[in-house]
Amino acid sequence: MSERPVRTRIAPSPTGDPHVGTAYMGLVNMVHARQHGGSFVLRIDDTDRTRYRHGSEEQIFEALRWLGLEWDEGPDKGGAKGPYRQSERTAIYREHTELLLERGGAYRCFCTPERLAKLRAEQQARKERTRYDNHCRELDPEESARRAAAGEPHVVRLKMPLEGSVVVEDLLRGPIELKQDNFQDQVLVKQDGFPTYHMASVIDDHLFEISHIIRAEEWISSAATHKVLFEAFGWEMPVLCHMPLLRNHDKSKISKRKNPTSILYYREAGFLPAGLLNFLALMGWGGPKNPDGSCEEIFGLDAMLEHFRLEEVSLGGPVFDLEKLRYVNGRHLRALPSDAYVEAVRGYLFAEDKLRRVCALAQPRTETLGEFLDVTSFFFGRVEHATPETRKRPLPEREPVAGLVPKGRSKEETWFALRIVQEALDRLDPWHHEALEETCRALASEEETGWKARELFMTLRVVMTGRTESPGLFETMELIGKPRGMGRLGDAMRLLGEPGKKKLKKWEKAREARRRSAAGGGAVRA
Ligand code: GLU
Ligand code: ZN
Repeated sequence: MSERPVRTRIAPSPTGDPHVGTAYMGLVNMVHARQHGGSFVLRIDDTDRTRYRHGSEEQIFEALRWLGLEWDEGPDKGGAKGPYRQSERTAIYREHTELLLERGGAYRCFCTPERLAKLRAEQQARKERTRYDNHCRELDPEESARRAAAGEPHVVRLKMPLEGSVVVEDLLRGPIELKQDNFQDQVLVKQDGFPTYHMASVIDDHLFEISHIIRAEEWISSAATHKVLFEAFGWEMPVLCHMPLLRNHDKSKISKRKNPTSILYYREAGFLPAGLLNFLALMGWGGPKNPDGSCEEIFGLDAMLEHFRLEEVSLGGPVFDLEKLRYVNGRHLRALPSDAYVEAVRGYLFAEDKLRRVCALAQPRTETLGEFLDVTSFFFGRVEHATPETRKRPLPEREPVAGLVPKGRSKEETWFALRIVQEALDRLDPWHHEALEETCRALASEEETGWKARELFMTLRVVMTGRTESPGLFETMELIGKPRGMGRLGDAMRLLGEPGKKKLKKWEKAREARRRSAAGGGAVRA
């Protein structure tokens, strides 16, 4: 194992809501660094401009800080090795590309998209795995440099071993052998000159002097590429540790279709940072051990700092079980001193700004103060159709839950309509009432849901408020906020029941066709 000072990092991409997986990695990386007197670095992987989402970076900071996961170096904090945003490091990547080409670890590939498409088609016709055929690997370096200087478009590819395998050492798994058949000469620098994830990540992990790369299991397949790249540069490889993936109940990778995945959702839904951290700590770890060998289930960050051992993490895919989270959170909540509980409730329910905005909607709609909660309860509590209790009961076909399923529509049609709403609203940021209205109106069209605005809005109202009457739908949604709004949408869809795989496939096809014909037979919209 490396004798270097311990430096760990997380490297989220600002492409959407701050993810519970980022919180999990943040927790483990922070704890490991603290335990060894090391540093915990926050890097922002924002080289993919097509997936970049404005505001996402700030939300990552906000969510991690809410949890109490504080980093020592990062874009907002600075540090000796910055900048910590990949988009600000392009000159560094360019320099290192030249270096790697000189060392012979990589080469320029001038293949045209047409050639690559043809290659792909031929491989598919032969039922072979599609991969690059190393066509440019043996190009004369001088010729290559000349063509590049003349402005010929190209990418840069890594020379992977042509035979055998690459063995990477994983802290939890021991040696993992990755076979050559699965490699191809990966693109390191794209045609536009920007580095790919592999290139930027390896360069930064080296320059930031990261000693332990602790990240999710899904990156194991990249580890061979990274190892070859570290060696091509002549750099020491950090210790690798791939943490088990958080999973849905059905063991698939945690996804927002099956669980709320935004950290901010859990804050808005009234979970405590201590509860969520405790729950995440239990993913793959039993908890602090008692002298009799049993494990403590409920504990705080201090106890984790004292007892957690990265090497002891078990690999069976831990299930992100909401009922368990509620239980753990409940234990923390009930253990609060009564004054702290009062403060927590006040901060959660009656923050000044929120109260003002709810009052603005309630005032025109009440005759006595006693009616205040009657018209506003869904801003404060959970909505009725979507409690965990009702979620467990499947919805009978012919019993529209207080208007969730409009007259003449089926549960299934409603699920599909909400699926379209879910996709569109997930992309919407900020969740402002005007933008919400515009988006939802556009979805009430032939090429989208095929529903009338009246039907769609009523269903949405029931999804968001549990009622058929409420203040203006879109102002109400804005105030409920995106994390909880998306959570309620997911709850309603779970209650309706997800259609089978076959039906889903068929529906997706039909929808593509609908969109294509609406676009006048032209290109498919993204
Ligand atoms: N940017 C990658 C992500 O979004 C980082 C993966 C890694 O930790 O290397 O997860
Ligand atoms: Zn080529």
